[in-house]
Amino acid sequence: MLILGLAAAVFFGLTPRYVEKSRNRLALGNARLEITAPVKSLHQSLLIADLHSDSLLWNRNLANKSDYGHVDIARLIEGHISLQVFSVVTKTPKDLNPHRNTDETDNITLLAIAQRWPIRTWFSLFERAIYQAEKLHRVENAVPNKFQIIKTKYDLHTYLNRRKNTPQITAGLLSLEGAHALEGKLDNLDRLFAAGFRIIGLSHFFDNELGGSAHGAKKDGITEFGRKVVKRIQELGMFVDAAHASPQLMEDIFSLSTRPVLVTHTGIQAICPLSPRNLTDKQIQQVANTGGLIGIGFWPTASCTVDITGVVRSIRYVVELVGEDHVALGSDFDGNVQVPFTAADMAQLTNSLVKAGFNQQQIGKIMGGNQIRILSNFLPNN
Ligand SMILES: [Zn+2]
Repeated sequence: MLILGLAAAVFFGLTPRYVEKSRNRLALGNARLEITAPVKSLHQSLLIADLHSDSLLWNRNLANKSDYGHVDIARLIEGHISLQVFSVVTKTPKDLNPHRNTDETDNITLLAIAQRWPIRTWFSLFERAIYQAEKLHRVENAVPNKFQIIKTKYDLHTYLNRRKNTPQITAGLLSLEGAHALEGKLDNLDRLFAAGFRIIGLSHFFDNELGGSAHGAKKDGITEFGRKVVKRIQELGMFVDAAHASPQLMEDIFSLSTRPVLVTHTGIQAICPLSPRNLTDKQIQQVANTGGLIGIGFWPTASCTVDITGVVRSIRYVVELVGEDHVALGSDFDGNVQVPFTAADMAQLTNSLVKAGFNQQQIGKIMGGNQIRILSNFLPNN
């Protein structure tokens, strides 16, 4: 019994913390540079936004400051981040392979059980999505004076006004990483919308009922169900996220889109060919043609560096190719990756952009102005 009890304590108690600590680390060898007063004041003047973090997957209470992982409310405020997109992951294959995975295995079932998520989440991808959205709402209820979930144009407008007088607040927006969480039912999309989701990625690490993944076995284009989902996403005023889509699925998304397409977190092939999902020049141009955004990732197979230099190189490449209105940040904080700094140290990136010679207007757009503009114009009215 004692042994069983100990095993249970280790499994339910220590493991989640240990697992997260080992997954969401800081890349070694990144010096935290001193920020000069003028750069600090520039950073404080910006509206900073990030298109992707997986913080809801882990068991930390985001209302409390932690000493591990990358994001919590306190660190978003410390980093002067106005808006963080919180993505929801519901299924990932074991032994992840960047080039080929099937849907036969799943890591998240064990994680859900080990983290003592409700039983309804153990065998339902849809319930996993709903549960993680509930977690974010619980954070909002716990610290309403510090954090707000944005769902409409009105929410964003009132939040930005509120923030002018109270800069020590931050906001979040829900996104889904892989619409296998719909479990094949279009009605479930409306339920996710009601739960607060505003960005929907069609596929994640494996091909699903909607279309192919860049890391899938077949990498096909969009299915009939996928078409219906894209149509309904756009009717509801949500955004399609093309990150992780197979090249053919991406083509299909571009041809169906009537709204800006987001690639919430990605690398750039010309800078870093390490991952099959990093965007080609043509894909970057296609995203820009929809009026969309390319969120530049902070992790090593996005930028081919473990430091900030690859991030800045990728940003510069997109600016030179399609102009400064289509680039955004897509850190992948807490996404089972190593990044050069946590949310609290976002000023490190502002500092690097200043040093790289970007002007203040460009820095404002890159660091979040573009993302805030698109959300202000395209979130649902109410
Ligand atoms: Zn991802």
